[in-house]
Amino acid sequence: MSEETADAGLRTDVPHTARIYDYMLGGKDNYEADRAAAEEIARRLPALPVAMRANRDFMVRMTRFLVRELGIRQFLDVGTGLPTSPNLHEAAQEIAPETRVVYVDNDPMVLAHARTLLAGTPEGRTAYIDADLREPGAILDAARGALDLDRPVALTVIAVLQFFTDDDEALGLVRRLMEPLAPGSVLALSVVPEADEASPLAAGVAAYKAQGIPMKMRTRAETERFFEGLELVEPGVVPVPHWHPDHPPVPDDPIRHMYGAVALKP
Ligand code: SAH
Repeated sequence: MSEETADAGLRTDVPHTARIYDYMLGGKDNYEADRAAAEEIARRLPALPVAMRANRDFMVRMTRFLVRELGIRQFLDVGTGLPTSPNLHEAAQEIAPETRVVYVDNDPMVLAHARTLLAGTPEGRTAYIDADLREPGAILDAARGALDLDRPVALTVIAVLQFFTDDDEALGLVRRLMEPLAPGSVLALSVVPEADEASPLAAGVAAYKAQGIPMKMRTRAETERFFEGLELVEPGVVPVPHWHPDHPPVPDDPIRHMYGAVALKP
């Protein structure tokens, strides 16, 4: 493959977050630059692959919970990432095949895999939108084709907001996406938590920044601000392994896991 596939906007010589994450999850959709960056970041933060896996597990548990316990049948997933089994639509449609899922990402590599993401059930529906979280209007316009916004929708923004270093911007974008959604809709997030400057997590974040990838850590209070006006589902904002665990989480887990939370729109 050429260094730059201009028409797809795919730069393989520059490390990319989706592909670094894919590599850490054991995927194959990554290039030398991504692997080198991932190795460098993991050298500073050896727990990162475990934390990323725990985030992915949270995404799957949260999806199953929303379908089973809250009766959600429509998802708008922004910052989908590269296909990793099970994908959100697989977790949801396994329980309720009629579930509709709209995926959104701005990475050309994810776009290239959209066909995999689109392989939903015949009764349900999956769609892929090539768009940026910074254009909520365009996302909502395109989503209306596949989702009925008069009925509850789960907006899921999982492991994406850390790339948004301006809190007001991030809060505004999430609010703008939630605004037209019907009562009974849901917001589910996972965010990178705050950490001491001397901690491995802070070193990992610094390693991302050194690769040219902006990154922001958030306190629990900063994370809770995203849910203002919504009703947090128990247990609120917690490290992801503690959010409705299938198995008791590891006691005294030394890993600084992402925060995860789910809230209902009244
Ligand atoms: N949600 C998945 C993937 C997280 S990786 C999971 O938790 O497993 C973060 C994803 O967000 C990447 O695929 C990246 O391409 C996407 N992303 C980053 N910034 C974005 C933006 N501004 N708009 C849309 N997607 C974005």
